[in-house]
Amino acid sequence: MKPLQMVDTKTQYQKIKKEVDAAVLAVMESSQFIGGKEVSEFADSLAKYNGSRYVIPCANGTDALQIALMALGLKAGDEIITPSFTYIATVEVAALLGIKPIFVEVDKKTFCIDPAVIEKAITPKTKAIVPVHLYGHAANMEAIMHLSEKHNLFVIEDNAQAIGNDYTFSNGNIKKTGSIGHIGCTSFYPSKNLGAFGDGGAIFTDDDNLAQKMRMIASHGQSKRYYHDVVGCNSRLDAMQAAILNIKLTHLDEYIAARIKAADYYDKAFAGNKKIDTPYRDNNNKHVFHQYTIILHDTNRDELHQFLADRGVPSMIYYPVPAHRQKMFDAFGGNKYQLPDTDWLTERVISLPIHTELEEEQQQLIVSQVLEFVNR
Ligand SMILES: *Cc1c(COP(=O)(O)O)cnc(C)c1O
Repeated sequence: MKPLQMVDTKTQYQKIKKEVDAAVLAVMESSQFIGGKEVSEFADSLAKYNGSRYVIPCANGTDALQIALMALGLKAGDEIITPSFTYIATVEVAALLGIKPIFVEVDKKTFCIDPAVIEKAITPKTKAIVPVHLYGHAANMEAIMHLSEKHNLFVIEDNAQAIGNDYTFSNGNIKKTGSIGHIGCTSFYPSKNLGAFGDGGAIFTDDDNLAQKMRMIASHGQSKRYYHDVVGCNSRLDAMQAAILNIKLTHLDEYIAARIKAADYYDKAFAGNKKIDTPYRDNNNKHVFHQYTIILHDTNRDELHQFLADRGVPSMIYYPVPAHRQKMFDAFGGNKYQLPDTDWLTERVISLPIHTELEEEQQQLIVSQVLEFVNR
């Protein structure tokens, strides 16, 4: 049996090695390392895949979020409403621009921002809602878009963990996550569902004006070469990553199917166990299982983590400290928040290995070790 890992990017690479190696070599031969046809081809293919009019490739998912906030004209003193139960990048970029993140609770079932608490958090300074499709499950976008219209707020989707998720509205319309809000952001960090062989990111929008602005901001605020109209940054997806992503994008749906299959296996194996809540899947979306995260009851989570590690079974805590409790946010009054559901989750979640190369015998072992600890 192959050793257990949280992700197995190596085996995944070996399966497409011929194509990938040829594509990388072609970039080296052409020596066009920045921009060029790989990058524009990838942007076009991804736009088509995601049902978005525009895709602006950039250097990473964190930059994507920052560029989105800048393009919407958010300034120091403005507020965004965002979950605290998320990866830090979502809120860090706001703080970097002097924008105040207003942290709200997540829905304990979906791990995503709870629309029911958003409205109470709106103030005259609120400019945007930033939902995160955590672990690959979509936030309740129908309710969020409704609030956005009602209160005239922008919506920036953090789609770094959910690329490929199909979200179904109550009228039957289906849209990919990342194409629903005014702007969607994603990351091609190697372990993400669509991972590069290094850093990468992209921004989605249907809006001409925003697309043009974001392209400018990602390129030193240039409208044409050496004419800089606005303050921007330098955020590019390089040609080699684009060449690799062009190939991996054609496999994304099968990668997602493999993740869902692995999740189904875990679900079945843990079904009925009172100490384990398997991940909830709302039938309004297709959970793409960037993570397989369970909630433990009457079980010492950290002891389980250690027990598994001692037996060669990796597991991770995403995330051990919610954003509002990070020291970084002391200056933003983070420590004044009362988010009991977020704290509750932070103490009870554990993520098990899930990736495209996971084999049934590996899952059997993981499950048996988890159950041995939980049932004793
Ligand atoms: C990975 C991730 C990001 C940041 O992406 P990078 O490419 O690492 O900068 C942002 N938000 C979420 C939810 C993520 O999982």
